[in-house]
Amino acid sequence: MGYVKGLKCRECGREYPKEPLYVCEYCFGPLEVIYDYSRIKEKLSRELISSRAKNLWRYQELLPIDGDPLVGLHSGFTPLVRADNLARELGVKELYIKDDSVSHPTLSFKDRVVSVAISKAKEFGFDTVACASTGNLANSVSAQSAQAKIRCLVFIPADLELGKVVASLVYAPQVIAVEGNYDEVNRLCSEVANKYNWAFVNINIRPYYAEGSKTYAYEIVEQLGWRVPQHIIVPVAGGSLISKIWKGFHEFKKLGLIDQVDARIYAAQAQGCAPVVTAIKEGTEIIKPVKPKTIAKSLAIGNPADGYYAFKTVMDSGGWGEEASDEEIVEGIKLLARTEGIFTETAGGVTVAVAKKLIEQGRIPRDELIVISITGNGLKTQEAVSGKLDKVMRIEPNLDFFEKEMKKRGGEKNGS
Ligand SMILES: *Cc1c(COP(=O)(O)O)cnc(C)c1O
Ligand SMILES: [Zn+2]
Repeated sequence: MGYVKGLKCRECGREYPKEPLYVCEYCFGPLEVIYDYSRIKEKLSRELISSRAKNLWRYQELLPIDGDPLVGLHSGFTPLVRADNLARELGVKELYIKDDSVSHPTLSFKDRVVSVAISKAKEFGFDTVACASTGNLANSVSAQSAQAKIRCLVFIPADLELGKVVASLVYAPQVIAVEGNYDEVNRLCSEVANKYNWAFVNINIRPYYAEGSKTYAYEIVEQLGWRVPQHIIVPVAGGSLISKIWKGFHEFKKLGLIDQVDARIYAAQAQGCAPVVTAIKEGTEIIKPVKPKTIAKSLAIGNPADGYYAFKTVMDSGGWGEEASDEEIVEGIKLLARTEGIFTETAGGVTVAVAKKLIEQGRIPRDELIVISITGNGLKTQEAVSGKLDKVMRIEPNLDFFEKEMKKRGGEKNGS
């Protein structure tokens, strides 16, 4: 059996049973999963964790399912890449990329939350799962519900990148493209969720779903040799990942797996949708909703559900926030590809660009340990960079032609 005690309102502290609930009926605060940490502490050790299979369920005691996991048996434990080339370029000493662009099975960090959500939805006995998504979530819910043999509907904004639409459709869920932005999709989904008895992974299952994000933090600590990074740059859409990374670090401390949490967390958003970063810069905890306009569509949530908690995480940790323009996002994608051979999507372009800015501003010291979060894969958002890269050299199939063109190129490069 699991270690979950129940749910608790993040605002007024009222407790609820472990059911598909997500909002406090007294104060409308969000509900959060609470665990029996003293029992977990008796059991979990570094040695035990290290001995387990390399997937996110190696931290199973800290995830909100009661039985054995049903999906995501190969999700998580993505590479923590020591990025010396990028470090040199940015002028810093010790830099790592936590690379969820190669997450199994759908190439984004959403596989973590969905592994937990679908396992939980099955435990609850739902026969249908659904989500409101900016793309990656829809991909993962579609794939993992195919594997779990559970009916699936995904709601997306109608203007999503083709790669993200195809990467849902191929698993044959019902894809619903809503003529509107994510915030409108989400509003519609809340109404649908109230009416139909479906497991909306990021609405009525949200408290359970969100816990999956903690594994991103656990892995970083474990992969650093049980150390917390001094600085971590995290992309913010709904604000869940960033808050859960903070929670994950602190849980490890509570369990005695690490001694202290000496980490600063930085929120990275696109200039065209930066409600959390704006609040950080203005020093107000009130998150003003915006109408998104950015190529970073996976982060284009103008009214973030956990925006306040994202803000609070950054402030509690002593971090900061920055934003990246569309142009800087493209530069960020190209910089990571050129230096480390990693092709990330627009969200990764945001974190790389923001990391660069924060280092240049002196907010992140150059001689401390830095982790940049890479949460999605560039093959899904090709339109962001195609047309902004060098042209292919198109030739006829003969050696003369090849050498002539090579010479021309060399000449051009030397000449200009
Ligand atoms: C969803 C998503 C995020 C941010 O997630 P939140 O928890 O909603 O803040 C970051 N990067 C990518 C690629 C995503 O798909
Ligand atoms: Zn409450």
